[in-house]
Amino acid sequence: MVAHHRETDMASQCDACGREIQIAGGVANLWDSTPRQTGGLTLELADGSEFFLCYDCIEQLPENPTRDDVDALRE
Ligand SMILES: [Zn+2]
Repeated sequence: MVAHHRETDMASQCDACGREIQIAGGVANLWDSTPRQTGGLTLELADGSEFFLCYDCIEQLPENPTRDDVDALRE
């Protein structure tokens, strides 16, 4: 029996744009020589819903985002 390393814990998908997000500390970062920030944040909205979003999408959200604002990013 072969044990496969699961990498799903190291990467997740942005709930808005669907892009794969590398979590800081993941192995992939070792080979990424560019200093740009990769990753995302779990955003909890005022209505209690949670979205995991990449920084690109977070930057496009208004100050007090609503579920509609997140939906708009999916376009
Ligand atoms: Zn995104």
